[in-house]
Amino acid sequence: MRQLAIFGGTFDPVHLGHLLVAQTALNQVPLEQVIWVPSQNPPYKQAALFEHRFEMVQRAIADNPKFTVSTVEKNRFGVSYAINTLIDLSVDYPNTHWYWILGLDTFQTLPRWYRRQELAQLCDWLVAPRLLGGENIAQSELICKQVEQKLTKQTLSIHWQLLHIPLVGVSSSLIRHLCRDRQSIRYLVPDSVKFYIDNHNLYTNG
Ligand code: ATP
Repeated sequence: MRQLAIFGGTFDPVHLGHLLVAQTALNQVPLEQVIWVPSQNPPYKQAALFEHRFEMVQRAIADNPKFTVSTVEKNRFGVSYAINTLIDLSVDYPNTHWYWILGLDTFQTLPRWYRRQELAQLCDWLVAPRLLGGENIAQSELICKQVEQKLTKQTLSIHWQLLHIPLVGVSSSLIRHLCRDRQSIRYLVPDSVKFYIDNHNLYTNG
């Protein structure tokens, strides 16, 4: 059975933190591929057009044969939920052991995810620590265990592991703020993404 990972996100825009997380997943787990899945209608977020976000991911990952980007969410009507993404991708990729890659902040919301009972049985979790409140790896591990305990109370059991990434504080919101303030985003996103943002004049308003 092959092993694949899904990396879902808004990617508004994709940045070096995302790339580092996905590459670390490849280093740590024998994955055939990481499938990047930009969401169409992310819950609780307003985002740039799907086409822009998709194009930027495509450019960012172009030189890595182990990365691919999926259009599975392109025509999603209504909110994008992880369970729908996974079910749809399972049709295209049968006989697969699935992993789901996500940052610690997102993992903490798992006890509230839509149809998490089913999802928990369908994939393992690769959790990337994130520099939000100065967490170190030991604290990240503790936070993951707390999430696991919450799920146990809901009679759900999950398999997870931490990704050993160097912690970087880069986020899409940081990139958007820098663009709005006409500051450089060089070294925070791949050059190809920077050119795309410049050419399409993204993130300069509001
Ligand atoms: P925003 O700043 O707009 O909230 P974001 O930087 O969190 O965006 P998303 O596309 O929402 O980007 O993130 C996709 C996934 O990648 C999420 O699970 C998020 O936690 C994770 N992630 C994003 N940036 C990092 C980072 N620097 N380190 C670890 N995980 C990250």
